[in-house]
Amino acid sequence: MQFSVSRTTAPKAKPDWDKLGFGAIFTDHMLIVDYTEGRGWHDGRIVPYVGLSLDPAACVLHYGVEIFEGMKAYAAPDGRILLFRPDANARRLNSSGARLCIPEFPVEDFIAGIKQLVALDEAWVPRQPETSLYIRPFIIATEPHLGVSRSKTFQFIVICSPVGAYYPEGLDPVGIFVEDEFVRAVKGGTGYIKCGGNYAASLAAQYKAKQLGYSQVLWLDGAEHKYIDEVGTMNVMFKLRGKVVTPELSGSILPGITRDSVIKLLKSWDYPVEERKISLEEVLQAAKDGGLEEAFGVGTAAVISPIGHFNIMGADYTVGDGGIGPLSQKIYDALTAIQWGRAEDKFGWTVRVL
Ligand SMILES: *Cc1c(COP(=O)(O)O)cnc(C)c1O
Repeated sequence: MQFSVSRTTAPKAKPDWDKLGFGAIFTDHMLIVDYTEGRGWHDGRIVPYVGLSLDPAACVLHYGVEIFEGMKAYAAPDGRILLFRPDANARRLNSSGARLCIPEFPVEDFIAGIKQLVALDEAWVPRQPETSLYIRPFIIATEPHLGVSRSKTFQFIVICSPVGAYYPEGLDPVGIFVEDEFVRAVKGGTGYIKCGGNYAASLAAQYKAKQLGYSQVLWLDGAEHKYIDEVGTMNVMFKLRGKVVTPELSGSILPGITRDSVIKLLKSWDYPVEERKISLEEVLQAAKDGGLEEAFGVGTAAVISPIGHFNIMGADYTVGDGGIGPLSQKIYDALTAIQWGRAEDKFGWTVRVL
């Protein structure tokens, strides 16, 4: 696929690099590719960042037919710009698409298009420590049709946003609210794909947790409310009695690329790691008898988000000593060193843009 390039004639002012925050500032350009049934993906183009024009009857606006990805471009100290496992994002986008009747987007075009977009907007990749260019590829169903059926037209779009350090003051443990009323996903549903609908359905619980003074929700399984699924919009890991345990990919859990990378990293250190069902009861028992040594969320945005304490039906429990655990810190340091090109990438995970 070739991407035509139409450069902006009105470049935006660059932001204050020390006050970036997350996802509020966008670069000068975006990538768009159209899909038409019978013709496939066509008219790949990089154009100035502008509002979209959609028919008010577009499928995405009524039935939420949308999938997305989240990835980053990192500026290395030697000036290289790196992507982290973009092939994994491309493959996951396609597995998400299969669930919502969205056509596959070729993996090689996904990577080539993003490389070209990031290279064009290279001046927007922040250089401050732990900052990055967040990349948001997504696909929307655009056919104007209120009948519920597979859309015949789609758009693949990529926008980019410079984002600040997630932890400007070092890893900061957060409080978690164990949600026992709402569920995020059930087996057979859409929990294993990255779609906007899952996020819409999570907002009420997230809001409730915030009101109660917790920063994230711990999601339990949808059928029995007994097993741990995820934390907020991250996968979750526990260090329990000297082993790392994380919920297995059961169909209701998003297969995180950070999750997979952390497991591979731990295995490369010969550190015991188990993917299996984890009941809330097991974690609670360990919290009470001192066996719960560390707990943390894992995802692209924060990399590692340590959990300091959690609330279960009104009672608060502390994880370890409530601070950042040594293993959480070690994983964070090792993974971020590869992502930002400060350490050798033995796994072949990074892909150079420039
Ligand atoms: C994106 C996401 C994750 C983390 O995936 P990464 O590939 O590691 O960023 C975890 N859980 C949910 C629900 C997600 O949407």
